[in-house]
Amino acid sequence: TTNRLAGTVALVTGASSGIGEATARALAAEGAAVSLVARRQDRLEQVACGIRELGGTALVRTADLTEEEQAHAAVDHSVAALGGLDILVNNAGLMLLGPFEEATSDQWRRMVRINLMGLMYTTQAALPHLVRAAADGTRQVADLVNVSAVAGRRTRAGRAVYSSTKFGVGALTEGLRQELHDRHVRVCAIEPGSTVTELRTHNPPHVRARLDARRLRRLDADDVAEAVVFAVTRPRHASVSELLIRPTEQP
Ligand code: NDP
Repeated sequence: TTNRLAGTVALVTGASSGIGEATARALAAEGAAVSLVARRQDRLEQVACGIRELGGTALVRTADLTEEEQAHAAVDHSVAALGGLDILVNNAGLMLLGPFEEATSDQWRRMVRINLMGLMYTTQAALPHLVRAAADGTRQVADLVNVSAVAGRRTRAGRAVYSSTKFGVGALTEGLRQELHDRHVRVCAIEPGSTVTELRTHNPPHVRARLDARRLRRLDADDVAEAVVFAVTRPRHASVSELLIRPTEQP
């Protein structure tokens, strides 16, 4: 660790597993105090313990980010406990795949509620604090990182709705970038390809079986976490808008 984020505070949503967990650990290793937000308290506590064992600072806050008040409360709690907010990583998400014709509208709603609405609630709660950090903080810059996906750049059969939510994240990212650039809040989309996490486990068995049949050396969550760390450790004058990262073997 080189402590490039010493003195900063980062909030990571979906920090209880996968990419969010790896990102929280990686930001803590760079010296950021991290606020870990998701629904599963036991898993968040495990991540926090690991960070504290290495000498880092970690705060746990459970929240269902599809509920606007809970998203705001999580941000407020983190700001009060850690003294501000320099970096927000909107990572919490859900991917339910399969043909559109076979899907239920409940599956669509669940994805839209967390991938889009949850991200918007959390972002709106965090923005005043990010703007303040960019104006008054030691770094004079703040970071809003949205985890989109390769599916947010091109879609395929079987993922029309998941892709729609991630294309939406791309549009939000660019719109917010234009609204915030002159206040030194950098806005970045991280777009990973297939990554080993719990994401696909939420799918029905037949969808999972099809995904698991693809033989591919997938990305590790740490590969994606490194991309996030890269984006938020650039000098103040440099803003990474987008990072598309695929498994080498992914067609
Ligand atoms: P995981 O399923 O391991 O992680 C998803 C995280 O989101 C969990 O920590 C989960 O925590 C959290 N989450 C889900 N719903 C909510 C909610 N309502 N409120 C709060 N937290 C919630 O999968 P990944 O790590 O893969 O996913 C992270 C992001 O990466 C997602 O946005 C996903 O779309 C994106 N991504 C993943 C890829 C992959 O191949 N794995 C590829 C491209 C993008 P909890 O259940 O405890 O609430």
